[in-house]
Amino acid sequence: MKYHRILLKLSGEALMGQQQYGIDAERLMQYASEIKSVAATGVQVAVVIGGGNIYRGVEAEAFGLDRVQGDYMGMLATVINSMALQSALEKLEVSTRLLSGLTIQRVCEPYIRRRAVRHLEKGRVVIFGAGIGSPYFTTDSAASLRAIEIEADVVLKGTRVDGIYTADPEKDPTATRYNEITFDEVLKKNLNVMDMTAFTLCKENNLPIIVFDMNTPGNLQRLLDGESMGTLVSRGGDGPRDGRKPVLDPKRSLLQPLVGNQPEQA
Ligand code: UDP
Repeated sequence: MKYHRILLKLSGEALMGQQQYGIDAERLMQYASEIKSVAATGVQVAVVIGGGNIYRGVEAEAFGLDRVQGDYMGMLATVINSMALQSALEKLEVSTRLLSGLTIQRVCEPYIRRRAVRHLEKGRVVIFGAGIGSPYFTTDSAASLRAIEIEADVVLKGTRVDGIYTADPEKDPTATRYNEITFDEVLKKNLNVMDMTAFTLCKENNLPIIVFDMNTPGNLQRLLDGESMGTLVSRGGDGPRDGRKPVLDPKRSLLQPLVGNQPEQA
């Protein structure tokens, strides 16, 4: 098996199914059963789910409301979706834990990295709610950050499109899909994979991203079985997959501040 620990990012919008708003029960159960199947094979699964089907902070600005307040509302929307997913997983008898970036102690555990890792080691599906708990971020950023923190092997970004295209396939019929692309090429070609904060986190920490179609039943399992699908974004070449792990330089004082970006390893 290629991946030992994955972080699955699901958008809130995908949860709407054919609806205009909220949660489509059928789609929710489909996601839960796909997660159950892969967890049953021994893959450790962490999930970040968005909130766009309920609320986004930028909508507050459009109404002339306070952006920060709107972002917290968006974070609460992700907690609602996370609770729904947790419930759906429990209905399928999957052991889960919901860890939140905002303290909501009656319904979620607070996010504590070591705890998250321990849950994963015990085979529980870990859902990260409330993004990173700070405004002006997205759940893509939360997915990248949490994946790095828990040392996931990959971020799997489940979308309704089956990968990254040369142009928007819904607008341009000549658009073709990349099987693989490097972080640098994504930036050079200005392709939209994740927001820049989220993408940069992955790039700088050499955390591969796979964008794939999550709405076709069985795709998640097929992807983990090694079937080629979607688009892999990585550093490219035969570079080490674990290049993101920090290498301690004995000459560098631990108190010396890190200035700017670390030079990339080949
Ligand atoms: N949000 C935030 N900080 C975070 C994560 C989310 O402020 O760390 C807010 C932000 O307003 C965002 C909303 O929550 O628009 C919902 O998340 P997102 O837009 O990422 O959901 P998705 O597009 O994946 O459905």
